[in-house]
Amino acid sequence: MKNRESGTRSSRLWREAQELIPGGVNSPVRAFKSVGEEPVFVRKAKGAKVWDCDGRVYIDYIMSWGPLILGHAHSKVVEAVRSAAGRGTSYGLPTQAETELARIIREAFPSVQKVRLVNSGTEAAMTAIRLSRAFANREKILKFDGCYHGHADVLLASAGSGAATFGIPGSAGVSNEIVKNTITVRYNDAEAVKNAISQNRRENGECKIACVIVEPVCGNMGVVLPDKGFLRFLREITRENGIVLIFDEVITGFRVSFGGAQEYYGVDADLTVLGKIIGGGLPVGAFGGKEEIMRLLAPEGPVYQAGTLSGNPISVAAGLATLRLLKNRKIYRKLESLGKSLEDGLLSAARTSGVSATVNRVGSMLSLFFSADPVRNYDDAKKTDAGFFAKYHSEMRKRGILIAPSRFEAMFLSSAHTERDIAKTVAAFRESLQAIS
Ligand code: PMP
Repeated sequence: MKNRESGTRSSRLWREAQELIPGGVNSPVRAFKSVGEEPVFVRKAKGAKVWDCDGRVYIDYIMSWGPLILGHAHSKVVEAVRSAAGRGTSYGLPTQAETELARIIREAFPSVQKVRLVNSGTEAAMTAIRLSRAFANREKILKFDGCYHGHADVLLASAGSGAATFGIPGSAGVSNEIVKNTITVRYNDAEAVKNAISQNRRENGECKIACVIVEPVCGNMGVVLPDKGFLRFLREITRENGIVLIFDEVITGFRVSFGGAQEYYGVDADLTVLGKIIGGGLPVGAFGGKEEIMRLLAPEGPVYQAGTLSGNPISVAAGLATLRLLKNRKIYRKLESLGKSLEDGLLSAARTSGVSATVNRVGSMLSLFFSADPVRNYDDAKKTDAGFFAKYHSEMRKRGILIAPSRFEAMFLSSAHTERDIAKTVAAFRESLQAIS
């Protein structure tokens, strides 16, 4: 651990936290372990900025790992939360606002005919899998190496993100009996998908795979884009084989465009998993899709799923406030132009410093990889320089730029970021590269 933090208030708070909370954090990647630093302990945040407990201010590219597309503490979202809380924090009974949120989701995602709200992306993905198994009456699922869909046991085979940092696959405590039904193949590898499907057939020729679940743009091995035609290929091969296609749009939903990756790439899923932005920074998740599949869900059908705080009025109010602002789509033009400036600035600074770098980006989600080669899958992402990334992270942090503390995560822009923020970030990047080499 770097010494420069010791003696600070953040450092003291972290030591105290570690006595009570494993690793001192409530989600592993927040410990900054993979970059060998101490965590940032936050005092407050506003717009594109975060203040730590020692009064240092950062331009934030973590943005709560994706939900804050409008920036921290957006006035409309805060107002909606205050007002909802004043009318009661939870009823365990239905409200009109839940229907309104479902309606906006359905308008944005034409493939979603019905939607259920839950409390996290993990829950949503877990239930989407359960539903697809019941619908297809098959056991196996297919996922991609480096895609993360939350921490349900069945999905913890070869997940990216924090999970990658902490040594999954082979995650302790996950029963082999459960993951034996999870087939994992390489992202962007159509041949591997074809082979998996042809190898998993019953004697009568019927496929044993219930669903294919995919991040249509990966955000959990760093940002990795689908090759041209890959999503369409998945759409076709799943349809031909009676397999449910699940797009996990927890990150990409309302991020890469209002209608998520499905709108961006023009490919529809059978089931869609959502989270993050639809809760405006409060706990949320959702899954939805075709009526014929969703109809299997309790209380209409036999697939059980429930939640004490599901669709709670505060998350729903924050989500509605956020989606209503996104709806006129102007924000996406601004996000695209900020994203382009950041991409160009980072690449140009790397070039002039003689550092090999690749940027993968869709709109306001991007990753900078220290690699001369393209990054198309998890193997490519793992080959990038971890040591260099750690140094870069630390130098950027010293200069007031806060980046997710793992090379397997995305940088997120919000409508609160400005061209000035980007210029400062690029200047800090130039200085950081000089300091490292
Ligand atoms: N799916 C994807 C694509 C994610 O990025 C995440 C979380 N980062 C999840 C699912 C799980 O969501 P949650 O953390 O809300 O459980």
